Amino acid sequence: MLQKKTVDDLQVKGKRVLVRCDFNVPLQDGVITDDNRITAALPTIKKLMGDGGKVILCSHMGKPKGEPKPELSLAPVAKHLSELLGKEVVFAKDDTVVGENAKAAVAKMQDGDVVLLENTRYRKEETKNEENFSKELASLADVYVDDAFGSSHRAHCSTVGVTEFVKESAVGYLMEKEIAFLGNAVNNPVRPFVAILGGSKVSDKINVINNLLEKVDTLIIGGGMAYTFAVAQGGHVGESLLEEDKVPYAKEMIEKAKAKGVNFLLPVDTVITKEFKNDTEYKTVPTGEIPEGWMGLDIGEKTRELFADAIKGAKTVVWNGPMGVFEMENFAKGTKAVAEAMASIDATTIIGGGDSAAAVNQLGFGDKMTHISTGGGASLEFLEGKELPGVAAVDDK
Ligand code: AMP
Repeated sequence: MLQKKTVDDLQVKGKRVLVRCDFNVPLQDGVITDDNRITAALPTIKKLMGDGGKVILCSHMGKPKGEPKPELSLAPVAKHLSELLGKEVVFAKDDTVVGENAKAAVAKMQDGDVVLLENTRYRKEETKNEENFSKELASLADVYVDDAFGSSHRAHCSTVGVTEFVKESAVGYLMEKEIAFLGNAVNNPVRPFVAILGGSKVSDKINVINNLLEKVDTLIIGGGMAYTFAVAQGGHVGESLLEEDKVPYAKEMIEKAKAKGVNFLLPVDTVITKEFKNDTEYKTVPTGEIPEGWMGLDIGEKTRELFADAIKGAKTVVWNGPMGVFEMENFAKGTKAVAEAMASIDATTIIGGGDSAAAVNQLGFGDKMTHISTGGGASLEFLEGKELPGVAAVDDK
């Protein structure tokens, strides 16, 4: 269990509470296209408002690289949050984040008020965890709450540095929930425990595969990363994604799975094309028999059945990474099959953020899963068994 202080351990009445959220939401022409990360932060915000705190929210958005970029302003988030909370969230428009405007907005706050600061990455110090900006952020508040699971794998001013300069710090409800679900699934799973990994690269998931092989009963690998494993088994993959330098590692993992008695499932067939686009000729061939000039973009029908069967027998399932190029309809069937199989079982089902979370929501299976993580990178690092700096920095109970 989490030994960190949580918002339930705080007395915030009349105090200024700086809350780091993950409001890094997709925007199109200034309109938020997916507000899951914002709604996920509401329980903590409402709790602190209800307890009479002065709630100062902060977050990053995108990568403005240390300078103000109007298209990455958090202004649309303030507007949306005001609607969700039914109360005005004052946007402290300030290119330096903690400038005169922000200070004035905070000085005016009454108990239960909410202010949102500008994008923390407008400041170049943020991603370097430099002391001056951490101190500036801390100067606005008495207490700090970290509810930004999606940013907790980064040691930045607003996730780590700031904790050194406030009187007290705690994690928010979202952070608590994410760590409880992911932590229980990985460290204390009801078995059989099945993990499914996909996405483009083996190199991004090296430590995840290694760590999960210590924990799971079945490990399923699909997506672009499966072709490196196919080559490790002596197959031909044509023009498919391949990381040749990772072939020895893939061999090692296949051996490790055998030694550990882990059921290691790789695609048996694959949907191939000559061009990387949706509207083009495609066909299914056995994995490992992909002709020159063709590339695999999705798992085939037999693999979909094989993976779905393995998922159906599970009591805990963790999934990270699509099974194919799901952004193109003709190559989304594998990802859909996995989502469908997970949605149909009576088990703890956890989606590790990023593309798989987007796919599950897009396909309409969101409410069928036990937990959809708001953090892609953070949940991967958690699955690697790493300590998340944003969590470690918060006060212990
Ligand atoms: P990642 O960022 O590593 O989780 O990878 C996600 C991306 O992998 C998605 O954009 C998918 O389109 C892509 N992907 C999945 N399978 C394949 C494949 N067989 N070939 C090329 N890209 C793939």
